[in-house]
Amino acid sequence: LYCDQAFSEGAIAVLPKAQAHYLGTVLRMGVGDSLRLFNGREGEWRGEIISHSRKHTDVKLVEPLRAMSEVPDIALAFAPIRRHRTSFIFEKGTELGVSRFEPVITARTQFPKLSLEKAQAQIIEAAEQTERLDVPNVCKPVRLLDWIGMQAGRQIIFADEAGDALPAREALKSGQPRATLLIGPEGGFTEDERQALRQQESVLSVSLGPRILRADTAALSLLTLWQSLHGD
Ligand code: SAM
Repeated sequence: LYCDQAFSEGAIAVLPKAQAHYLGTVLRMGVGDSLRLFNGREGEWRGEIISHSRKHTDVKLVEPLRAMSEVPDIALAFAPIRRHRTSFIFEKGTELGVSRFEPVITARTQFPKLSLEKAQAQIIEAAEQTERLDVPNVCKPVRLLDWIGMQAGRQIIFADEAGDALPAREALKSGQPRATLLIGPEGGFTEDERQALRQQESVLSVSLGPRILRADTAALSLLTLWQSLHGD
Protein backbone atom coordinates (compact mmCIF):
# COMPACT_ATOMS: atom_id res chain seq x y z
CA LEU A 1 0.00 0.00 0.00
CA TYR A 2 1.08 3.56 -0.77
CA CYS A 3 1.64 5.81 2.24
CA ASP A 4 2.95 9.33 1.72
CA GLN A 5 4.87 9.57 5.02
CA ALA A 6 8.58 9.37 5.95
CA PHE A 7 9.73 5.82 6.76
CA SER A 8 12.06 4.80 9.63
CA GLU A 9 12.21 1.84 12.00
CA GLY A 10 9.53 2.18 14.68
CA ALA A 11 7.75 5.06 12.96
CA ILE A 12 3.94 4.92 12.94
CA ALA A 13 2.23 5.21 9.56
CA VAL A 14 -1.40 6.32 9.78
CA LEU A 15 -3.48 4.93 6.89
CA PRO A 16 -6.63 6.96 6.20
CA LYS A 17 -10.24 5.77 6.01
CA ALA A 18 -10.27 4.32 2.48
CA GLN A 19 -7.17 2.22 3.13
CA ALA A 20 -8.45 1.23 6.60
CA HIS A 21 -11.64 0.00 4.94
CA TYR A 22 -9.67 -1.94 2.31
CA LEU A 23 -7.48 -3.61 4.95
CA GLY A 24 -10.25 -4.36 7.44
CA THR A 25 -13.22 -5.19 5.24
CA VAL A 26 -11.73 -6.39 1.96
CA LEU A 27 -8.55 -8.10 3.20
CA ARG A 28 -9.98 -8.91 6.68
CA MET A 29 -6.73 -7.80 8.30
CA GLY A 30 -6.44 -6.59 11.89
CA VAL A 31 -4.06 -5.84 14.76
CA GLY A 32 -0.88 -7.92 14.58
CA ASP A 33 -1.10 -8.58 10.82
CA SER A 34 1.86 -7.59 8.63
CA LEU A 35 1.65 -5.61 5.40
CA ARG A 36 3.99 -3.92 2.91
CA LEU A 37 4.10 -0.13 2.52
CA PHE A 38 5.90 2.15 0.04
CA ASN A 39 6.06 5.95 -0.17
CA GLY A 40 7.63 6.31 -3.63
CA ARG A 41 10.94 7.56 -2.21
CA GLU A 42 12.32 5.15 0.40
CA GLY A 43 11.64 1.69 -0.97
CA GLU A 44 9.27 -0.89 0.50
CA TRP A 45 8.94 -1.56 4.25
CA ARG A 46 7.21 -4.24 6.29
CA GLY A 47 4.78 -2.88 8.83
CA GLU A 48 2.58 -4.36 11.55
CA ILE A 49 -0.93 -3.17 12.31
CA ILE A 50 -1.00 -1.87 15.88
CA SER A 51 -4.50 -0.40 15.85
CA HIS A 52 -7.43 -0.44 13.49
CA SER A 53 -10.74 1.44 13.33
CA ARG A 54 -13.21 2.47 10.62
CA LYS A 55 -11.49 5.89 10.51
CA HIS A 56 -7.84 4.84 10.24
CA THR A 57 -5.31 2.05 10.66
CA ASP A 58 -2.01 2.63 12.49
CA VAL A 59 0.94 0.63 11.26
CA LYS A 60 4.30 0.38 13.00
CA LEU A 61 7.18 0.24 10.50
CA VAL A 62 9.33 -2.79 11.29
CA GLU A 63 11.99 -3.31 8.59
CA PRO A 64 12.95 -2.30 5.04
CA LEU A 65 12.18 -5.04 2.46
CA ARG A 66 13.13 -3.60 -0.95
CA ALA A 67 15.37 -0.62 -1.70
CA MET A 68 14.60 1.84 -4.52
CA SER A 69 16.38 0.88 -7.75
CA GLU A 70 17.41 3.05 -10.69
CA VAL A 71 14.54 3.14 -13.19
CA PRO A 72 14.92 4.18 -16.86
CA ASP A 73 13.81 7.78 -17.27
CA ILE A 74 11.04 7.31 -19.82
CA ALA A 75 8.37 10.04 -19.94
CA LEU A 76 5.10 9.84 -21.86
CA ALA A 77 3.70 12.98 -23.43
CA PHE A 78 0.20 12.77 -24.90
CA ALA A 79 -2.72 14.94 -25.87
CA PRO A 80 -5.54 14.24 -23.36
CA ILE A 81 -8.33 12.27 -25.02
CA ARG A 82 -11.77 11.23 -23.76
CA ARG A 83 -11.72 10.51 -20.05
CA HIS A 84 -11.82 6.72 -19.89
CA ARG A 85 -9.14 6.43 -22.55
CA THR A 86 -6.91 8.89 -20.72
CA SER A 87 -7.37 6.77 -17.57
CA PHE A 88 -6.25 3.78 -19.63
CA ILE A 89 -3.05 5.66 -20.58
CA PHE A 90 -2.31 6.49 -16.93
CA GLU A 91 -2.95 2.92 -15.78
CA LYS A 92 -1.04 1.11 -18.55
CA GLY A 93 1.74 3.70 -18.61
CA THR A 94 2.29 3.19 -14.87
CA GLU A 95 2.35 -0.59 -15.30
CA LEU A 96 4.82 -0.20 -18.17
CA GLY A 97 7.28 1.93 -16.21
CA VAL A 98 6.56 5.51 -17.28
CA SER A 99 8.50 7.86 -14.99
CA ARG A 100 6.41 10.98 -15.74
CA PHE A 101 3.23 11.82 -17.64
CA GLU A 102 3.30 15.09 -19.60
CA PRO A 103 -0.09 16.08 -21.05
CA VAL A 104 0.35 18.38 -24.07
CA ILE A 105 -2.32 20.54 -25.72
CA THR A 106 -2.12 20.35 -29.51
CA ALA A 107 -4.18 22.23 -32.11
CA ARG A 108 -6.62 19.33 -32.39
CA THR A 109 -6.85 18.37 -28.71
CA GLN A 110 -10.55 18.08 -27.94
CA PHE A 111 -10.29 17.28 -24.23
CA PRO A 112 -7.79 19.78 -22.75
CA LYS A 113 -9.33 19.55 -19.28
CA LEU A 114 -7.70 17.04 -16.97
CA SER A 115 -8.22 16.45 -13.27
CA LEU A 116 -4.63 16.10 -12.03
CA GLU A 117 -5.91 14.92 -8.64
CA LYS A 118 -7.95 12.08 -10.19
CA ALA A 119 -5.05 11.23 -12.49
CA GLN A 120 -2.59 11.01 -9.59
CA ALA A 121 -5.00 8.76 -7.65
CA GLN A 122 -5.31 6.43 -10.68
CA ILE A 123 -1.53 6.36 -11.01
CA ILE A 124 -1.03 5.52 -7.31
CA GLU A 125 -3.58 2.70 -7.58
CA ALA A 126 -1.77 1.31 -10.65
CA ALA A 127 1.62 1.64 -8.89
CA GLU A 128 0.25 -0.37 -5.92
CA GLN A 129 -1.12 -3.05 -8.23
CA THR A 130 2.09 -3.32 -10.27
CA GLU A 131 4.23 -3.22 -7.10
CA ARG A 132 6.42 -0.36 -8.28
CA LEU A 133 8.39 1.44 -5.55
CA ASP A 134 8.38 4.79 -7.33
CA VAL A 135 5.20 6.71 -8.17
CA PRO A 136 5.19 8.54 -11.52
CA ASN A 137 3.80 12.05 -11.40
CA VAL A 138 1.60 13.87 -13.86
CA CYS A 139 2.52 17.39 -14.98
CA LYS A 140 0.18 20.28 -15.74
CA PRO A 141 -0.90 20.30 -19.43
CA VAL A 142 1.19 22.67 -21.59
CA ARG A 143 0.81 23.78 -25.21
CA LEU A 144 2.81 21.56 -27.58
CA LEU A 145 5.09 24.34 -28.86
CA ASP A 146 5.97 25.37 -25.28
CA TRP A 147 6.48 21.72 -24.40
CA ILE A 148 8.94 21.27 -27.28
CA GLY A 149 11.00 24.17 -25.88
CA MET A 150 11.24 22.33 -22.53
CA GLN A 151 12.80 19.14 -23.94
CA ALA A 152 16.48 20.20 -24.01
CA GLY A 153 18.71 17.17 -23.56
CA ARG A 154 15.90 14.68 -24.01
CA GLN A 155 15.20 12.59 -27.03
CA ILE A 156 11.64 13.03 -28.31
CA ILE A 157 10.25 9.88 -29.90
CA PHE A 158 7.01 10.85 -31.53
CA ALA A 159 4.47 8.46 -32.92
CA ASP A 160 3.88 9.90 -36.35
CA GLU A 161 1.07 8.43 -38.39
CA ALA A 162 1.99 10.57 -41.42
CA GLY A 163 3.20 7.49 -43.20
CA ASP A 164 6.78 8.52 -44.06
CA ALA A 165 8.15 7.87 -40.57
CA LEU A 166 10.65 5.08 -39.96
CA PRO A 167 9.25 1.75 -38.74
CA ALA A 168 9.65 1.41 -34.98
CA ARG A 169 12.17 -1.47 -35.23
CA GLU A 170 14.49 0.89 -37.20
CA ALA A 171 13.80 4.14 -35.42
CA LEU A 172 14.03 2.82 -31.87
CA LYS A 173 17.47 1.23 -32.35
CA SER A 174 19.02 4.65 -31.70
CA GLY A 175 16.92 5.23 -28.58
CA GLN A 176 18.65 7.11 -25.75
CA PRO A 177 18.23 6.22 -22.05
CA ARG A 178 16.41 9.51 -21.28
CA ALA A 179 13.57 9.78 -23.73
CA THR A 180 10.07 11.11 -23.97
CA LEU A 181 7.47 9.34 -26.06
CA LEU A 182 4.91 11.64 -27.68
CA ILE A 183 1.46 10.63 -28.88
CA GLY A 184 -0.92 12.93 -30.74
CA PRO A 185 -4.65 13.57 -30.19
CA GLU A 186 -7.56 11.81 -31.80
CA GLY A 187 -7.35 14.21 -34.73
CA GLY A 188 -3.60 13.72 -35.15
CA PHE A 189 -0.83 16.32 -35.36
CA THR A 190 -1.17 19.25 -37.76
CA GLU A 191 1.46 19.65 -40.49
CA ASP A 192 2.87 22.69 -38.63
CA GLU A 193 3.20 20.65 -35.44
CA ARG A 194 4.84 17.80 -37.32
CA GLN A 195 7.35 20.24 -38.90
CA ALA A 196 8.06 21.89 -35.55
CA LEU A 197 8.78 18.47 -34.05
CA ARG A 198 10.93 17.27 -36.93
CA GLN A 199 13.09 20.41 -36.71
CA GLN A 200 14.24 19.48 -33.22
CA GLU A 201 17.76 18.05 -33.20
CA SER A 202 17.03 14.94 -31.15
CA VAL A 203 13.70 13.82 -32.50
CA LEU A 204 12.77 10.40 -33.85
CA SER A 205 9.49 10.12 -35.74
CA VAL A 206 8.26 6.56 -35.54
CA SER A 207 5.66 4.66 -37.50
CA LEU A 208 3.61 2.08 -35.60
CA GLY A 209 2.50 0.37 -38.80
CA PRO A 210 0.09 1.00 -41.66
CA ARG A 211 -3.10 1.13 -39.55
CA ILE A 212 -4.39 4.17 -37.68
CA LEU A 213 -4.28 3.33 -33.98
CA ARG A 214 -6.34 5.04 -31.32
CA ALA A 215 -4.12 7.35 -29.23
CA ASP A 216 -4.32 5.05 -26.21
CA THR A 217 -3.37 2.04 -28.36
CA ALA A 218 -0.46 4.01 -29.84
CA ALA A 219 0.73 4.99 -26.35
CA LEU A 220 0.65 1.39 -25.15
CA SER A 221 2.39 -0.02 -28.23
CA LEU A 222 5.13 2.61 -28.48
CA LEU A 223 5.86 2.28 -24.77
CA THR A 224 6.04 -1.51 -25.01
CA LEU A 225 8.36 -1.32 -28.03
CA TRP A 226 10.63 1.18 -26.25
CA GLN A 227 10.71 -0.86 -23.03
CA SER A 228 11.52 -4.04 -24.96
CA LEU A 229 14.66 -2.34 -26.36
CA HIS A 230 15.77 0.07 -23.66
CA GLY A 231 13.74 -0.59 -20.56
CA ASP A 232 14.13 -2.87 -17.58
N1 SAM B 1 -4.51 11.24 -37.90
C1 SAM B 1 -5.29 10.09 -37.43
C2 SAM B 1 -6.46 9.86 -38.37
O1 SAM B 1 -6.27 10.19 -39.51
O2 SAM B 1 -7.48 9.36 -37.93
C3 SAM B 1 -5.76 10.29 -36.02
C4 SAM B 1 -4.60 10.31 -35.04
S1 SAM B 1 -4.39 8.85 -34.15
C5 SAM B 1 -6.00 8.44 -33.66
C6 SAM B 1 -3.74 9.44 -32.62
C7 SAM B 1 -2.27 9.43 -32.49
O3 SAM B 1 -1.82 8.08 -32.37
C8 SAM B 1 -1.49 9.99 -33.66
O4 SAM B 1 -1.37 11.41 -33.58
C9 SAM B 1 -0.16 9.30 -33.50
O5 SAM B 1 0.62 9.95 -32.50
C10 SAM B 1 -0.55 7.93 -33.02
N2 SAM B 1 -0.71 6.96 -34.10
C11 SAM B 1 -1.84 6.36 -34.49
N3 SAM B 1 -1.58 5.46 -35.47
C12 SAM B 1 -0.25 5.52 -35.71
C13 SAM B 1 0.64 4.84 -36.60
N4 SAM B 1 0.20 3.91 -37.44
N5 SAM B 1 1.95 5.16 -36.58
C14 SAM B 1 2.41 6.10 -35.72
N6 SAM B 1 1.63 6.77 -34.84
C15 SAM B 1 0.31 6.47 -34.83
